[in-house]
Amino acid sequence: MNPKSEFEKAVYEGEFRTLIDQETLRRRVVEMGRQITKDYGGMQPIIIGVLNGAFLFMADLIRHIELDLEVDFIKISSYGDEKISSGKVMMLKDINAEIQGRHILVVEDIVDTGLSIQFLREKFSRLAPASLRFATLLYKKQNVRVEVQLDYVGFEIPDEFVIGYGLDYKQILRNLPAVFVMD
Ligand code: 5GP
Repeated sequence: MNPKSEFEKAVYEGEFRTLIDQETLRRRVVEMGRQITKDYGGMQPIIIGVLNGAFLFMADLIRHIELDLEVDFIKISSYGDEKISSGKVMMLKDINAEIQGRHILVVEDIVDTGLSIQFLREKFSRLAPASLRFATLLYKKQNVRVEVQLDYVGFEIPDEFVIGYGLDYKQILRNLPAVFVMD
């Protein structure tokens, strides 16, 4: 027997349902980049990506932000390797940038319970940035447990576990080019 990888199953056997296809993703990311370019005109923001999930979205997004900008990354974990949020946020890697007095845009892959965003807002607010905004590609609005304020949202999606375009299942499938639902 020749066992298929999860990647092959997803892409070639249609095992997973497409939620957002490549072209739709591309168009929305371009729009978001244009909006951010407009909103931050004349500024030099620091774009902080939340690892691991946001790396693909952020790489695409910043190519549509026509400004001098800096990038940094923070790594947090709320899920471990499971499909259900543990409810606890841990920081695994901190940023290196000095953010006091700077315009900060945090880029997330997905907002689910909102706990990660809440954690990040508290953490970065303490460092006295000039401004602090949040962008997310995906938003499971009906799952949010705490008050979150999001400035840029790519897509509101239903309460389903999604993979691809940076989002993993047990650390794999991040390299799928579109967003799929894993039933
Ligand atoms: P929150 O703290 O808002 O509950 O969750 C945010 C984090 O949980 C995301 O950055 C992501 O890593 C993970 N997450 C939430 N929903 C999903 C999902 O549907 N699929 C995947 N792969 N990760 C998710």
